[in-house]
Amino acid sequence: MSSSFQTIVDLDATAEDAVAHGERVVAWLVGEGIVESPDHGPGARWERATGFREASGSEGLTVVTGRTVFFSPQHGGPPVCPYCEVAWRDGHREAFSPAMEEWWDTGRAEVPCPACGRVVPLAAWEWAEDGLAFAYLGFDFRNGPALLPEFVTELGRVIVHRTRFVRGRI
Ligand SMILES: [Zn+2]
Repeated sequence: MSSSFQTIVDLDATAEDAVAHGERVVAWLVGEGIVESPDHGPGARWERATGFREASGSEGLTVVTGRTVFFSPQHGGPPVCPYCEVAWRDGHREAFSPAMEEWWDTGRAEVPCPACGRVVPLAAWEWAEDGLAFAYLGFDFRNGPALLPEFVTELGRVIVHRTRFVRGRI
């Protein structure tokens, strides 16, 4: 059976502060009653996240920390340069595959944009349909109904950092 995931990825947390920052955000979610402590299952005010009082199959929240490629198999849009906003339609895989390996090994990699020539850090590239993120912290809601857009926005404000909403089925 496939399962669905909805992950609000923190794009700015670092390897050093991801765990502490994740704990701050979870403390807010627990304090608001949206998830329970300690297992982070749906809490008394879960409807703020989904609009449904019942868990409806949701397994609640899992906090993902450490160097992670957040990836949606269904939302595979092309990379988009954050400077010139040109989408790289053809041939990007050849440039990105070695950069992804390097990032995985070292936490650093760059891919020059063929449209504007700027050297762009791998994690700074945007992806059409938000299908990919290279980051150190994610708030992963597994299974259950779609998160309410206003909840995703609110959680983004609590996270403070820039976020990306990666979702799909695995
Ligand atoms: Zn560019």
